[in-house]
Amino acid sequence: MLNDLKQQPADALLALIKLHNTDPRADKIDLGVGVYRTGQGDTPVFGAIKAAEAKLVAEQDSKAYLGPEGDMGFVEKLMPYIFGKDSADMGGRIEGMQTPGGTGSLRLALAMVKRAGYRRVIVGKPSWPNHNQICADLGLEVFEFNHAAADGTTDMDALRAAIASAQEGDAILLHGCCHNPTGIDYTHTEWDEIAALLAQSTILPIIDLAYQGLGTGMEEDAYGLRRVLVAVPEALVSYSCDKNFGLYRDRVGALYAMVADPADLSKVMSNGHALARANWSQPPDHGAAAVRLVLEDAELTAQWLDELDQMRDRMRQVRAKLAAAGKTGGVDLTPVGGQNGLFSIVPFTPEQVQAMRTKHGIYFAASGRINVAGLTMANIDQFVAAVADVTA
Ligand code: PMP
Repeated sequence: MLNDLKQQPADALLALIKLHNTDPRADKIDLGVGVYRTGQGDTPVFGAIKAAEAKLVAEQDSKAYLGPEGDMGFVEKLMPYIFGKDSADMGGRIEGMQTPGGTGSLRLALAMVKRAGYRRVIVGKPSWPNHNQICADLGLEVFEFNHAAADGTTDMDALRAAIASAQEGDAILLHGCCHNPTGIDYTHTEWDEIAALLAQSTILPIIDLAYQGLGTGMEEDAYGLRRVLVAVPEALVSYSCDKNFGLYRDRVGALYAMVADPADLSKVMSNGHALARANWSQPPDHGAAAVRLVLEDAELTAQWLDELDQMRDRMRQVRAKLAAAGKTGGVDLTPVGGQNGLFSIVPFTPEQVQAMRTKHGIYFAASGRINVAGLTMANIDQFVAAVADVTA
């Protein structure tokens, strides 16, 4: 029986990491893996997190179970950052729970959507591949619309058409900011329109906010989510702290549900709790407890926000320098400057991606998705020269 299982393709990015690790060239560059890197190429633990972890080790007096909802202090402390100081729970209409990373949150959100009777999820193309994988695993149909237009802006016509053609039982999964893999986000005016269109539809919005603070700012990156939430009766929000607190392997996330009538909140969340029990019982504690300790302490909060600002500034500098290269060989790097977050897609052909790797030791996904944080002021010129060479 087990031997009847079909071989699954290896994760392409993990295969790429292996290739990069075995490449002996000293000047090789890794633009594949989706983690932030400093100008020295490191992915360090935030100073604010280190301080919170020290406090946690010194003060934690029990590791007894907390429950499927995890650390509710963590869940609640995040809310003003996500939903805004003045509308942190939208008048008692929002409640959350801790999840193992943004992935765990998406898994729960989509399982809840399925349980509630939704059949289809509208997803932009391309998207983070796990969106479609989780839908497929849960037996939810995916309806795709084109995310990015040829000119490097969002394809609003495609989104408008997808919303207009939606049926009863449809949900829509939108990236709140720092679109993965394109880096192409909706403008504020576009979000205003999206919120209005969703308000006139029966579509349930699921907003995936995995990179708050890595785009244009903590408040700015929540603009779209907040606009949608004030316009619609119900929504789900999947949140990850793995990037903006640098906690990747500690798996820190949260799921929030917004309902029309506060009286329904406990019923809705009881489904989240039941699904958590069936999946992982309880989320891992350590990372979320460290985030809570940061957010409970004004000094550590200021330190975290400062460290996050530095990350974002560095990525903006890299983007500006890439954009300044403009037309490079056969591609134009200018749009990268206006895009947000860790990722952008450079329109390489598969042969060019291969040549970047074999000839120049520069590694990234076959889609042409580059992690801009893998570039430093010291190696951007090398990258640009390689781009000019392989695309000429
Ligand atoms: N959503 C998007 C768009 C992502 O890119 C990621 C991480 N790559 C996640 C959610 C999940 O993040 P994690 O599970 O690592 O918290």
